[in-house]
Amino acid sequence: MNATARERLASFSVDLDEIPCYAAIHGLPLPSGRARHAIYDEALPRYLDFFDEAGIRATFFVVGADLERPENLARIRDAHARGHEIASHSHTHRYDLTRRDRAFVHEEIESSARILADATGARPAGFRAPGYTVDEVVFEALEASGYAYDSSVFPCPAYYVAKAAAMLAIRLRGRESRSILDHPRVLTAPADPYRVGARYHRRGDGMLELPVAVTRGLRLPFIGTFVVLGSERAARSLARGMVGRPHVCFETHGIDLACAERDDLAWLRPHQPDLRVSLETKRARLLAVVEELRSHGYRFVRLDEAAARF
Ligand SMILES: [Zn+2]
Repeated sequence: MNATARERLASFSVDLDEIPCYAAIHGLPLPSGRARHAIYDEALPRYLDFFDEAGIRATFFVVGADLERPENLARIRDAHARGHEIASHSHTHRYDLTRRDRAFVHEEIESSARILADATGARPAGFRAPGYTVDEVVFEALEASGYAYDSSVFPCPAYYVAKAAAMLAIRLRGRESRSILDHPRVLTAPADPYRVGARYHRRGDGMLELPVAVTRGLRLPFIGTFVVLGSERAARSLARGMVGRPHVCFETHGIDLACAERDDLAWLRPHQPDLRVSLETKRARLLAVVEELRSHGYRFVRLDEAAARF
């Protein structure tokens, strides 16, 4: 690690899972009309405004296949032109990526790199797996495709339990979630930047991993979903729980700045509690996190910039 002592870096990232991903998680039919593109058409422009106001250059994780839609491609080119990093969130966002065969995994990771290179002029440096689930084959494919870092490991017991409970609830209602549960070994992974070993959840000399943020001590989840659901005070408290970590990898989703009314997403509200919170409130809570981290000396950089420091 060559980050200068005491330097505190934070990165704000947005996974641009489009609305059909949420329909798949909850086992719901695919939406039609405006709702289908609400993340790219509505939430992404809101994020760009938010980052302008907050003075942040962020990292967007893009599902490669979404760029087949010309409007999405134009928005991603705009985000790139405004100084944000464009990274890969796989080609087709299969939640069961780690249960597919090796050739499929390599193809998902390589074809998204090619598509992003066409879109921005540069191959992506970073990758985030669908549903935070990686394994050794994923890392092998990332190295083969020339990625510089991965940011998928989320060593968070509370999230793990919540996800297992949510998947069980969906099944009990007779629907089938496309989401999968990672092996619990992920919970033993380091929570600060590390190089992966022969087993990805152990240290070694392989690819750089920038784990998704968990607080010190209890390893509570410090991600957008929980920040927008709690009070502003709770958001600040979670942010303070990060202080002391050399890097804060704050992860959000496009849906964190979606609006049930304005974006035609009322049908999804019973399944996504964050859609019950007003857009203004969610924005204020995200801003509170940024302010809190800055008050503790954190400087916001893109994930590729952070990766260059570790
Ligand atoms: Zn995703």
